[in-house]
Amino acid sequence: MENKHVIVIAFPFGSHLMPLLNLVIKLAQAAPNCSFSFIGTQKSNAILFPRPHLPNNIKFYAISDGIPEGHVLGENPTEKLNLFLQTGPENLQKGIELAVAETKQRVTCIIADAFVTSSLLVAHTLNVPWIAFWLPISCSLSFYFYLDLIRHTCANSAANTTLEFLPGLSKMRVEDVPRDMLDVGEKETLFTRTLNSLGEVLPQAKAVVMNFFEELDPPLFVQDMRSKLQALLYVVPFPSPLLSPPDSDSGGCLSWLDKQSSKSVAYVCFGTVVAPPVHELVAVAEALEESGFPFLWSLKEALMGVLPNGFLERTSKRGKVVSWAPQAQVLAHDSVGVFVTHCGANSVIESVSSGVPMICRPFFGDQGVGARVIEDVWEMGLVIEGKVLTKSGLLKSLNLILVQEEGKKIRDKALKMKKTVQDAVRPEAQAAQDFNTLVKIISN
Ligand code: UDP
Repeated sequence: MENKHVIVIAFPFGSHLMPLLNLVIKLAQAAPNCSFSFIGTQKSNAILFPRPHLPNNIKFYAISDGIPEGHVLGENPTEKLNLFLQTGPENLQKGIELAVAETKQRVTCIIADAFVTSSLLVAHTLNVPWIAFWLPISCSLSFYFYLDLIRHTCANSAANTTLEFLPGLSKMRVEDVPRDMLDVGEKETLFTRTLNSLGEVLPQAKAVVMNFFEELDPPLFVQDMRSKLQALLYVVPFPSPLLSPPDSDSGGCLSWLDKQSSKSVAYVCFGTVVAPPVHELVAVAEALEESGFPFLWSLKEALMGVLPNGFLERTSKRGKVVSWAPQAQVLAHDSVGVFVTHCGANSVIESVSSGVPMICRPFFGDQGVGARVIEDVWEMGLVIEGKVLTKSGLLKSLNLILVQEEGKKIRDKALKMKKTVQDAVRPEAQAAQDFNTLVKIISN
């Protein structure tokens, strides 16, 4: 049988990278007859590589990031996304040529981050199946299929109006809609245009692969997406042991958590992209200090300067602030009782899998959808009062979830979600079958 050559196309930014490499590692182990050519940029490949113990049927290739020589990126975080997308299919093609020249194998399939839609054109040219990997909050996929209705509703309704027309997601509100979706005319960028085309593009995929648990998504949502896509497959998002870096707990978070009591600690982290406004960070510090709860806060080094004078010293007996925490392990630790989060897709997966209730402060993109699902669909957390971190709002939420009888329902729901995840990852569950289906698609 001909050896298969799968081209993997990354959206070479932030937390889209690890889950894609994770999927590829699992596929490479399950399909040793396939070669995987992972195409990123020099910068993104450097984040993933070198990594010891990767299966040797995965090779990395670098293409242009689209940043013109000598150009200095401005403040806008989406500038680099637009520059990369602007390089279009020609740039991807160059990476594929490198991979084909080195492996001497023709391409038999393309797996791409769903955001790199130009890879569909390449798949058409090569006449090979195109598989799209969906990394945002799973339910946010639905929004791209109801764009006109959403835009119409958002233009004519109050922020708390529910989006009744979204199958299985009738609790979503106007205020939860990713703002990019409403960018039309001059405000539209290549990035937003690309995202807003997904409802038309994704049905052309041989399969859309979700980095999530089907059992946690509303059945009507899943059914609706299945009716619109050729195939919808759920793969377990847990990281392969080959992914974890050996030195990820240099701040000593886990040994510190060992000394705290069960479900007592508030863990705070807003991911790798968001920089919350200074007044909100100060409010977090004040709430943590006044609450008296033990806390672990992962706060970027560059933001530490905004902490109130003397905060670290005054709270040092029961608090710890680090610039990086091994978050998945932190959330899995028995001492953690609540997670104050921006609702990034990876953070949500990690919290749900460990049954940790969340206090949500969504900022942009799919985070609002995540927050709504957490509060109103799973009922395993709450959105911070006014959607802004204030001292009194956070104190109220922390007390509710960590202490009060009223918060018991949320705590119990979180544990129930963990149990659902544990069942979903069993070898006889649907996810294992979906993974096998994916392996069959790429190896046939
Ligand atoms: N993360 C971590 N330690 C930190 C901060 C972040 O391990 O101190 C990880 C976190 O576990 C998650 C990822 O970084 O896997 C952040 O991804 P997410 O989708 O939650 O948010 P984003 O960074 O994309 O906004």
